[in-house]
Amino acid sequence: MTGPGKLPARDFEEIRLAEALERGRCPLCDARQESSFAALRGLAREGATDRGLRDQMDKGLGFCRPHSVGLSKMELLQTSSQLATAVLLDAVLRRRLATLKKVAGGDASSQVRGLAELSDPRCPVCTRTAEASAAAVRRLLALSIDEAWSEALGSGEICLDDIYALWTAAAAGPKEVSARWSRILAAQLKRLDGLQKTLAEYAHNSTMDRRGLITREQQEAGAASIRFFGGSPDRDRTR
Ligand SMILES: [Zn+2]
Ligand SMILES: [Zn+2]
Repeated sequence: MTGPGKLPARDFEEIRLAEALERGRCPLCDARQESSFAALRGLAREGATDRGLRDQMDKGLGFCRPHSVGLSKMELLQTSSQLATAVLLDAVLRRRLATLKKVAGGDASSQVRGLAELSDPRCPVCTRTAEASAAAVRRLLALSIDEAWSEALGSGEICLDDIYALWTAAAAGPKEVSARWSRILAAQLKRLDGLQKTLAEYAHNSTMDRRGLITREQQEAGAASIRFFGGSPDRDRTR
Protein backbone atom coordinates (compact mmCIF):
# COMPACT_ATOMS: atom_id res chain seq x y z
CA MET A 1 0.00 0.00 0.00
CA THR A 2 1.33 3.36 -0.92
CA GLY A 3 1.78 5.69 2.03
CA PRO A 4 -0.24 8.86 2.58
CA GLY A 5 0.37 11.56 0.02
CA LYS A 6 2.52 9.31 -2.16
CA LEU A 7 0.21 9.06 -5.13
CA PRO A 8 0.89 11.71 -7.77
CA ALA A 9 -2.21 13.88 -8.20
CA ARG A 10 -2.66 16.79 -10.61
CA ASP A 11 -5.96 18.25 -9.52
CA PHE A 12 -8.55 18.25 -6.77
CA GLU A 13 -10.36 15.24 -8.22
CA GLU A 14 -7.18 13.15 -8.23
CA ILE A 15 -6.26 14.29 -4.73
CA ARG A 16 -9.63 13.00 -3.50
CA LEU A 17 -9.27 9.66 -5.25
CA ALA A 18 -5.73 9.33 -3.87
CA GLU A 19 -6.89 10.19 -0.35
CA ALA A 20 -9.64 7.61 -0.49
CA LEU A 21 -7.23 4.86 -1.52
CA GLU A 22 -4.66 5.93 1.05
CA ARG A 23 -7.28 5.90 3.80
CA GLY A 24 -8.48 2.42 2.90
CA ARG A 25 -11.75 3.58 1.37
CA CYS A 26 -13.23 2.54 -1.96
CA PRO A 27 -12.45 5.54 -4.21
CA LEU A 28 -15.63 5.08 -6.23
CA CYS A 29 -17.91 4.85 -3.19
CA ASP A 30 -16.11 7.95 -2.00
CA ALA A 31 -16.68 9.81 -5.29
CA ARG A 32 -20.40 8.95 -5.20
CA GLN A 33 -20.76 10.05 -1.59
CA GLU A 34 -18.96 13.29 -2.31
CA SER A 35 -21.22 14.08 -5.26
CA SER A 36 -24.45 13.14 -3.49
CA PHE A 37 -23.35 15.25 -0.53
CA ALA A 38 -22.71 18.23 -2.84
CA ALA A 39 -25.99 17.71 -4.72
CA LEU A 40 -28.05 17.42 -1.53
CA ARG A 41 -26.35 20.43 0.00
CA GLY A 42 -27.23 22.48 -3.10
CA LEU A 43 -30.82 21.26 -3.07
CA ALA A 44 -31.26 21.96 0.62
CA ARG A 45 -29.94 25.49 0.12
CA GLU A 46 -31.50 26.53 -3.16
CA GLY A 47 -33.74 23.73 -4.38
CA ALA A 48 -36.98 25.18 -3.05
CA THR A 49 -36.45 28.52 -4.81
CA ASP A 50 -34.97 27.07 -7.99
CA ARG A 51 -37.70 27.65 -10.57
CA GLY A 52 -36.10 25.35 -13.16
CA LEU A 53 -35.90 22.49 -10.68
CA ARG A 54 -39.50 23.01 -9.57
CA ASP A 55 -40.59 22.90 -13.22
CA GLN A 56 -38.76 19.60 -13.63
CA MET A 57 -40.44 18.24 -10.51
CA ASP A 58 -43.75 19.16 -12.14
CA LYS A 59 -42.66 17.11 -15.14
CA GLY A 60 -41.96 13.99 -13.11
CA LEU A 61 -38.54 14.41 -11.51
CA GLY A 62 -38.55 13.00 -7.97
CA PHE A 63 -36.31 11.63 -5.25
CA CYS A 64 -35.41 8.01 -4.61
CA ARG A 65 -35.84 6.64 -1.09
CA PRO A 66 -32.32 7.23 0.26
CA HIS A 67 -32.12 10.72 -1.24
CA SER A 68 -35.53 11.76 0.09
CA VAL A 69 -34.18 10.99 3.54
CA GLY A 70 -30.77 12.41 2.62
CA LEU A 71 -32.28 15.72 1.56
CA SER A 72 -34.24 16.13 4.78
CA LYS A 73 -31.21 15.24 6.89
CA MET A 74 -28.98 17.61 4.97
CA GLU A 75 -31.44 20.46 5.36
CA LEU A 76 -31.85 19.74 9.04
CA LEU A 77 -28.10 19.81 9.44
CA GLN A 78 -27.75 23.11 7.57
CA THR A 79 -30.76 25.09 8.69
CA SER A 80 -32.38 23.17 11.56
CA SER A 81 -35.57 23.07 9.51
CA GLN A 82 -37.07 20.89 6.81
CA LEU A 83 -39.05 23.51 4.93
CA ALA A 84 -37.17 23.31 1.63
CA THR A 85 -37.61 19.55 1.71
CA ALA A 86 -41.34 20.00 2.24
CA VAL A 87 -41.57 22.43 -0.70
CA LEU A 88 -39.76 19.99 -3.00
CA LEU A 89 -41.61 16.90 -1.81
CA ASP A 90 -44.90 18.74 -2.23
CA ALA A 91 -44.04 19.35 -5.90
CA VAL A 92 -43.11 15.68 -6.32
CA LEU A 93 -46.17 14.41 -4.49
CA ARG A 94 -48.57 16.54 -6.53
CA ARG A 95 -47.21 15.13 -9.76
CA ARG A 96 -47.05 11.56 -8.44
CA LEU A 97 -50.63 11.69 -7.19
CA ALA A 98 -51.87 12.74 -10.61
CA THR A 99 -49.95 9.86 -12.20
CA LEU A 100 -51.12 7.33 -9.59
CA LYS A 101 -54.74 8.29 -10.19
CA LYS A 102 -54.26 7.90 -13.92
CA VAL A 103 -52.60 4.49 -13.52
CA ALA A 104 -55.31 3.32 -11.10
CA GLY A 105 -57.95 4.09 -13.74
CA GLY A 106 -56.35 1.95 -16.44
CA ASP A 107 -56.73 -1.75 -17.28
CA ALA A 108 -54.38 -4.38 -15.81
CA SER A 109 -51.76 -4.25 -18.55
CA SER A 110 -51.60 -0.47 -18.57
CA GLN A 111 -51.28 -0.55 -14.77
CA VAL A 112 -48.27 -2.88 -15.08
CA ARG A 113 -46.76 -0.52 -17.68
CA GLY A 114 -47.49 2.54 -15.59
CA LEU A 115 -45.98 1.00 -12.47
CA ALA A 116 -42.84 -0.04 -14.38
CA GLU A 117 -42.42 3.58 -15.47
CA LEU A 118 -42.95 4.80 -11.91
CA SER A 119 -40.28 2.45 -10.55
CA ASP A 120 -37.67 4.92 -11.84
CA PRO A 121 -38.03 7.91 -9.51
CA ARG A 122 -35.89 10.02 -11.91
CA CYS A 123 -33.89 11.22 -8.95
CA PRO A 124 -31.57 14.13 -9.83
CA VAL A 125 -29.16 13.19 -7.02
CA CYS A 126 -28.85 9.64 -8.40
CA THR A 127 -28.14 11.12 -11.83
CA ARG A 128 -25.34 13.26 -10.39
CA THR A 129 -23.81 10.38 -8.42
CA ALA A 130 -23.95 8.06 -11.44
CA GLU A 131 -22.11 10.70 -13.49
CA ALA A 132 -19.53 11.16 -10.74
CA SER A 133 -19.05 7.41 -10.49
CA ALA A 134 -18.54 7.03 -14.25
CA ALA A 135 -16.12 9.97 -14.31
CA ALA A 136 -14.12 8.46 -11.43
CA VAL A 137 -13.96 5.09 -13.23
CA ARG A 138 -12.56 6.79 -16.34
CA ARG A 139 -10.12 8.80 -14.26
CA LEU A 140 -8.83 5.81 -12.28
CA LEU A 141 -8.32 3.73 -15.41
CA ALA A 142 -6.43 6.63 -16.98
CA LEU A 143 -4.33 7.08 -13.83
CA SER A 144 -3.45 3.39 -13.78
CA ILE A 145 -0.79 4.14 -16.41
CA ASP A 146 1.21 5.38 -13.42
CA GLU A 147 2.89 2.56 -11.52
CA ALA A 148 2.07 3.96 -8.06
CA TRP A 149 -1.61 4.30 -8.95
CA SER A 150 -1.69 0.86 -10.49
CA GLU A 151 -0.27 -0.62 -7.29
CA ALA A 152 -2.65 1.36 -5.08
CA LEU A 153 -5.61 0.17 -7.17
CA GLY A 154 -4.40 -3.42 -6.91
CA SER A 155 -4.08 -3.36 -3.13
CA GLY A 156 -6.79 -0.82 -2.27
CA GLU A 157 -10.15 -1.60 -0.73
CA ILE A 158 -12.33 -1.43 -3.82
CA CYS A 159 -15.81 -2.81 -3.17
CA LEU A 160 -17.23 -5.62 -5.30
CA ASP A 161 -19.70 -3.52 -7.29
CA ASP A 162 -17.00 -1.02 -8.13
CA ILE A 163 -14.59 -3.76 -9.19
CA TYR A 164 -17.37 -4.75 -11.61
CA ALA A 165 -17.69 -1.14 -12.78
CA LEU A 166 -13.94 -0.74 -13.37
CA TRP A 167 -13.74 -4.14 -15.01
CA THR A 168 -16.67 -3.44 -17.35
CA ALA A 169 -15.19 -0.10 -18.44
CA ALA A 170 -11.70 -1.59 -18.85
CA ALA A 171 -12.95 -4.56 -20.87
CA ALA A 172 -14.84 -2.20 -23.18
CA GLY A 173 -11.85 0.16 -23.47
CA PRO A 174 -8.68 0.13 -25.57
CA LYS A 175 -6.30 -2.83 -25.35
CA GLU A 176 -3.69 -1.04 -23.24
CA VAL A 177 -6.31 -0.11 -20.65
CA SER A 178 -7.63 -3.66 -20.36
CA ALA A 179 -4.04 -4.94 -20.08
CA ARG A 180 -3.39 -2.51 -17.22
CA TRP A 181 -6.64 -3.54 -15.58
CA SER A 182 -5.70 -7.24 -15.84
CA ARG A 183 -2.69 -6.60 -13.61
CA ILE A 184 -4.79 -4.62 -11.13
CA LEU A 185 -7.44 -7.33 -11.10
CA ALA A 186 -4.84 -10.05 -10.50
CA ALA A 187 -3.60 -8.10 -7.45
CA GLN A 188 -7.18 -7.58 -6.24
CA LEU A 189 -7.94 -11.29 -6.55
CA LYS A 190 -4.84 -12.04 -4.51
CA ARG A 191 -6.00 -9.54 -1.88
CA LEU A 192 -9.43 -11.17 -1.84
CA ASP A 193 -7.91 -14.64 -1.53
CA GLY A 194 -6.14 -13.47 1.62
CA LEU A 195 -9.30 -11.81 2.92
CA GLN A 196 -11.33 -14.95 2.34
CA LYS A 197 -8.81 -17.14 4.19
CA THR A 198 -8.72 -14.84 7.20
CA LEU A 199 -12.49 -14.55 7.14
CA ALA A 200 -12.78 -18.35 7.16
CA GLU A 201 -10.51 -18.48 10.23
CA TYR A 202 -12.69 -15.86 11.88
CA ALA A 203 -15.82 -17.84 11.07
CA HIS A 204 -14.13 -20.99 12.36
CA ASN A 205 -13.47 -19.25 15.68
CA SER A 206 -17.04 -18.02 16.00
CA THR A 207 -18.22 -20.91 18.18
CA MET A 208 -18.49 -20.23 21.91
CA ASP A 209 -15.54 -22.45 22.84
CA ARG A 210 -13.23 -20.88 20.25
CA ARG A 211 -14.04 -17.18 20.67
CA GLY A 212 -10.92 -16.53 22.71
CA LEU A 213 -8.85 -17.51 19.69
CA ILE A 214 -10.17 -14.68 17.54
CA THR A 215 -7.34 -12.37 16.51
CA ARG A 216 -7.47 -8.69 15.67
CA GLU A 217 -6.59 -9.51 12.07
CA GLN A 218 -9.58 -11.86 11.87
CA GLN A 219 -11.88 -9.22 13.28
CA GLU A 220 -10.58 -6.72 10.75
CA ALA A 221 -11.24 -9.22 7.97
CA GLY A 222 -14.85 -9.37 9.15
CA ALA A 223 -15.19 -5.60 8.87
CA ALA A 224 -13.35 -5.54 5.52
CA SER A 225 -15.71 -8.16 4.09
CA ILE A 226 -18.71 -6.02 5.03
CA ARG A 227 -17.11 -3.06 3.25
CA PHE A 228 -16.33 -5.27 0.27
CA PHE A 229 -19.99 -6.21 -0.20
CA GLY A 230 -21.61 -3.11 1.27
CA GLY A 231 -19.27 -0.38 0.05
CA SER A 232 -17.32 2.11 2.14
CA PRO A 233 -19.59 3.67 4.78
CA ASP A 234 -20.43 7.37 4.58
CA ARG A 235 -17.73 9.64 5.90
CA ASP A 236 -18.75 11.58 8.97
CA ARG A 237 -19.00 15.11 7.61
CA THR A 238 -20.62 16.69 10.64
CA ARG A 239 -17.40 17.09 12.56
ZN1 LIG B 1 -17.20 1.11 -3.84
ZN1 LIG C 1 -31.46 9.19 -5.61
